[in-house]
Amino acid sequence: MSLNDTNPFEAAMRQLDLVAEELSLDKKIVEVLKHPNRVVITSLPVKMDDGTIKVFTGYRVQYSRHRGPYKGGIRYHPNVNLDEVKALAAWMTWKCAVADIPYGGSKGGITCNPKEMSSAELERLTRRYTSSIVRDIGPFKDIPAPDIYTDSQTMAWLLDTYSEFQGYAVPGVVTGKPISVGGSEGRAGATGRGAALCTREAARHLGIDMNGATVAIQGYGKVGRSVAQVLREMGCIIIAISDSKGGIFNQNGLDPVKVLEHKKRTGSVVDFKDSTYVANKDLLELDCDILIPAALENVLTEENAPRIKVKIISEGANGPTTPEAGAILHKKGVMMIPDILANCGGVTVSYFEWAQNLNRLHWTLDEVNQKLEQKIVKAFNDVLEISTKRNISMRLAAYVLGVSRVAEALGVLGLFP
Ligand code: GLU
Repeated sequence: MSLNDTNPFEAAMRQLDLVAEELSLDKKIVEVLKHPNRVVITSLPVKMDDGTIKVFTGYRVQYSRHRGPYKGGIRYHPNVNLDEVKALAAWMTWKCAVADIPYGGSKGGITCNPKEMSSAELERLTRRYTSSIVRDIGPFKDIPAPDIYTDSQTMAWLLDTYSEFQGYAVPGVVTGKPISVGGSEGRAGATGRGAALCTREAARHLGIDMNGATVAIQGYGKVGRSVAQVLREMGCIIIAISDSKGGIFNQNGLDPVKVLEHKKRTGSVVDFKDSTYVANKDLLELDCDILIPAALENVLTEENAPRIKVKIISEGANGPTTPEAGAILHKKGVMMIPDILANCGGVTVSYFEWAQNLNRLHWTLDEVNQKLEQKIVKAFNDVLEISTKRNISMRLAAYVLGVSRVAEALGVLGLFP
């Protein structure tokens, strides 16, 4: 199987089947959980800078509102398609349940290549997309956030457009926005911090010293760069980092801050001084203690899984491991911290941001990071306990926790009519 021919929604549903079997879930509940509540597909005509008009396709999939309002990011990427957005929306549902925050799950996306678009074009695209889903989102309905190739600026345009439609400022409609318009301290680095905290807990459980532990990181976007910095603060040695253009390697360690400066200056981590080149696929197979896939889906497959050498994998990205690869790695004894646990720090601080907005509060960075650590340590240990008690992988255990919480909510809510 090649890298990207796994349909992510089918993979998500195969995972759900495994959980349903493990939990002996009522078939009627499984049937409901296998369908998103609502899917919005919208055509987005945008005036390009050269005067032409391009029509993009946008999606918003509202998967489940059983535990609270829909919640999930918006992705801008050439590969965005309905099945991917559906899978990501299902994962958000289980993720919010694992993190034990009062949300359902959703996801949005636009098929586009933001790297080839100007900021003005991206702004027009974002505002048009927002206007097309303006009736579907809201602080008590569905709360978007950043995802791949969207950021706090994207959220500011979304917030402004939504507020313009309402006639007043509605900061709680999006999270991950700039601090000047109601964003939270610590949100930008929250996903990476959460993945690093999960890694620390896993290392503690396995008796691995974080001081001197070696790490490879695939992806140097919002998640990769913050996980690198926090792991380095914890004493780890970051020996390899990559982005979509390729990777860099230095057995003695790379300085994450200097690598970031280099990337900001040149557009990529490649050619960073004192490093040798490593291809993205080889980075995954390096001989080190910890691997953080923090880019796209389906990078760990049944083809490369047998060659993976690390002791801990913490999934900063959503869906980087195919179910087949997950089974192989679990059998090999690799401690896999699954995406819905490893990267739930982002949506957890999104929840803090939303709670601050609704209460007109602003917490300090220390308060945010402390609350985040409490949530992550609790979620990690809840999953570890299920994994140990049932003698199942951490992935299956995380799904057992997430899906059972959603199923419980569905059970008490019942069906309308
Ligand atoms: N896009 C992030 C995720 O996949 C964050 C979602 C959010 O904060 O709502 O978890």
